[in-house]
Amino acid sequence: MNPNLNQPVTVIKGIGEETAESLAEMNILTVYDLLEHFPYRYEDYRLRDLAEVKHDEKVTVEGKVHSEPSLVYYGRKKSRLTLRLLVDRYLIQVVFFNQPYLKNKISINDSITVTGKWDQHRQLITANEMHIGSYTNSSDFEPVYALKGKLTMKGMRKYIKLAFQQFGTLAEETLPVSILKKYKLLTRRDALRAIHLPDNSEDLKQARRRFVYEEFLSFQLKMQALRKFEREHSPGIEMNYDFERLKEFIDSLPFPLTDAQKRVVNEILTDMKSPFRMNRLLQGDVGSGKTVVAAICLFAGVTAGYQGALMVPTEILAEQHASSLKAMLSPFGLRCELLTSSVKGKARRELLQELSEGNIHILIGTHALIQDEVTFKKLGFVITDEQHRFGVEQRRVLREKGENPDVLFMTATPIPRTLAITVFGEMDVSIIDEMPAGRKGIETYWAKQEMLDRVLAFVEKELRKGHQAYVICPLIEESEKLDVQNAIDVHATLTHYFQNRYKIGLMHGRLSSDEKDTVMKAFSANEVQVLVSTTVVEVGVNVPNATMMVIYDAERFGLSQLHQLRGRVGRGSDQSYCILLADPKTEVGKERMKIMTETNDGFVLSEKDLELRGPGDFFGKKQSGIPEFKVADMVHDYRALETAREDAAKLIQSRMFWEAPEFEQLRRELKQTGVLDGEKLD
Ligand code: ADP
Ligand code: MG
Repeated sequence: MNPNLNQPVTVIKGIGEETAESLAEMNILTVYDLLEHFPYRYEDYRLRDLAEVKHDEKVTVEGKVHSEPSLVYYGRKKSRLTLRLLVDRYLIQVVFFNQPYLKNKISINDSITVTGKWDQHRQLITANEMHIGSYTNSSDFEPVYALKGKLTMKGMRKYIKLAFQQFGTLAEETLPVSILKKYKLLTRRDALRAIHLPDNSEDLKQARRRFVYEEFLSFQLKMQALRKFEREHSPGIEMNYDFERLKEFIDSLPFPLTDAQKRVVNEILTDMKSPFRMNRLLQGDVGSGKTVVAAICLFAGVTAGYQGALMVPTEILAEQHASSLKAMLSPFGLRCELLTSSVKGKARRELLQELSEGNIHILIGTHALIQDEVTFKKLGFVITDEQHRFGVEQRRVLREKGENPDVLFMTATPIPRTLAITVFGEMDVSIIDEMPAGRKGIETYWAKQEMLDRVLAFVEKELRKGHQAYVICPLIEESEKLDVQNAIDVHATLTHYFQNRYKIGLMHGRLSSDEKDTVMKAFSANEVQVLVSTTVVEVGVNVPNATMMVIYDAERFGLSQLHQLRGRVGRGSDQSYCILLADPKTEVGKERMKIMTETNDGFVLSEKDLELRGPGDFFGKKQSGIPEFKVADMVHDYRALETAREDAAKLIQSRMFWEAPEFEQLRRELKQTGVLDGEKLD
């Protein structure tokens, strides 16, 4: 960076010690920092046609004073000045509060410009800014900056303007000329000027376009350099799996793999065989058959002489996976065991012993897997399911229980592409984008709570065919007790409704895992026809005979969660149904219900969910790692993100990234984090 930009802000004329202190509170220490303090929005002073302005919107108009201003005092020191203004063909009222001195400044027939809030019903502007004649601002847009302490907006605007005048020419370009030309982007200097002091909306748009691309590109370059580094510097295990045995296993499955499953298995096997450590994300919609893929790869690892581990977020899911893997793999002589916090005492000690001796081939469990006491003999392959529920740290601990094991992350919630390439950009991605043949789409309906009787009649119709149903009660976040009570109430209602015709089971988070197990087994065996449950059945549970899903208070759930829940049905060859009981109050809530009835495609839903909730909320509270951009918006600027990603890939492959002076700063940052080879900085 140009050393002059690294000088303290006090070198700017007009910034003294006191101001510097306030700026320092915002982490603005140098001239560079000040130039990089971008507005978060703009005051818009463009003149607008009143017909297009909505009620309560802020507006600037220019007009001719049509009546002598009249001044009224009320209360102590309070006053109201009113006048009529002719704006184009509209005669409107303008009111100024507590500015009595304006009475002598404004005369009838004057041309004035006012800015204020538009009251459409009363055809009135409550003005807070006024100028005789036109505004003298050179721009239609005034930047609005974040402030702290004693700083004022006026002051901040002045300092940044001064900083630009004094040092703007020193701002260094961070994009190669070829890229600037290719996309017709403003130079960094011009863009800095335009972001702080835009002439007009086009100017501002071009500044934004430049910075959006710059932010995305530098982010992608860092991410991809990291990925390249990880790949090349992560010695892994070259697994020589037994392809013949693997084929035997695949042929024994009761169904042929889908093309997508085959492709994904091949991608994973290639990674396993390579000398580098696998770091791969496996995405697939609910029901696309990820479990089989996991089983095949775990099996492959075992034939190569390695143990495997599968970590999942909940006990129910762990149990479910353990039983399906056992069923698939034990006929082939593999030992799969389940480890959760409810495996205790002697059983636990024996299991851990067997594991460390290598007699257990595959261990399935919750985060119990990452406790210190768990040691493998030769762990080579690790899968974490629903991986965004685990922290980065937990994933690392599990990985380190082996020597550079291959790692596969599975997610049952399709992640929108934009997030996948930002949050998980350092991973390779495999996608199962095809459903097993013969699946019928789940028919989804949205019903009001008052239609419960009709809904239950519909449920009964399905039950009479010998099918089963889930009834999901809403999760009441604030109170697990209410949550459970809710489920108990619904259970009572349904037990009463179905009398002795059908058996109604109850499942919720307060049950012991033995109790849960009993309930689940009874439902699997069709001894219970209706399972009333809280969202604990959300992931992974697989009872193909269940064809009906009713979700109470569906508006309380996010789209991805609704989709997950719905995915519990439609697992057999019969037509399945999902009924959303909901009375959403908001437009967004209604939109969510509507989308659910329109599509079964998890990827489409996840994109929609991202749009409605925004990136910060997409994964829920626990997820971090979503990068913050100053100007760019992942959702709205996704096209630029894609472009930047492709460009970054090419740049990393070519010499450009490693040599171009424009990327010097970026290379420095990467060196500091140890990602780039070469001498460490002093
Ligand atoms: P996911 O974990 O992706 O939600 P599962 O692995 O639980 O999906 O698979 C859902 C159901 O589909 C299971 O009953 C499974 O046996 C079945 N299945 C998986 N792959 C196929 C396939 N290729 N053809 C038919 N059924 C399949
Ligand atoms: Mg699954």
